[in-house]
Amino acid sequence: MNFLEERIVKDGIVKEGNVLKVDSFLNHQMDIKLLNQMGAEFKKRFADKNINKILTIEASGIGIACIVAEHFDVPVVFAKKSQSINLDGEMYVAEVESFTHKCKNNVIVSQKFLSEDDHVLIIDDFLANGCALQGLIQIVQSSGATVEGIGIAIEKGFQSGGRIIRNLGFQLESLAIVDGMDASTGQIFFREQNAE
Ligand code: 5GP
Repeated sequence: MNFLEERIVKDGIVKEGNVLKVDSFLNHQMDIKLLNQMGAEFKKRFADKNINKILTIEASGIGIACIVAEHFDVPVVFAKKSQSINLDGEMYVAEVESFTHKCKNNVIVSQKFLSEDDHVLIIDDFLANGCALQGLIQIVQSSGATVEGIGIAIEKGFQSGGRIIRNLGFQLESLAIVDGMDASTGQIFFREQNAE
């Protein structure tokens, strides 16, 4: 097991409905040392890529993306989920369906912060059905920028997102891939990977 899988086993909680709660270290309270280890691992896995920007989605992707960005020494852009008075000018918009909130949202990025010169690493906390990711990919593509890769903390391998995104030809690196969970025993089954 790698460092993230060990932490998921220690502190993750399996909920009914195929939901894994990791709010004590990843997406509510955040363990910055752990995030830092994740940043170092992504840097290693995307070492051959010339990345000049990180893109994520609010809210729970932002913390991870910021720490990852330190390792790449690049800025972070986060897609917003609602229109606000602080968003002005031309915008890229994509529609995504939320797994946790069971609703549809627009994700929005100002055209000022993504252009065809950008080489983007997309970062998010979870990958389930891939709706959030597909929205982010769509936004990068409408800007003319290049998706250099996608880094995910936890992929739920029994949902379709990972397969869809890999079949599209993207380099998708998930630090932990959960292939099954049992809410009655709390057991979590991980896919074998080569990561440390
Ligand atoms: P997707 O769009 O891939 O279906 O879902 C991705 C988003 O749903 C993630 O950004 C994450 O916020 C949320 N999500 C999906 N599954 C889980 C889960 O099991 N636990 C938690 N905490 N969030 C999840």
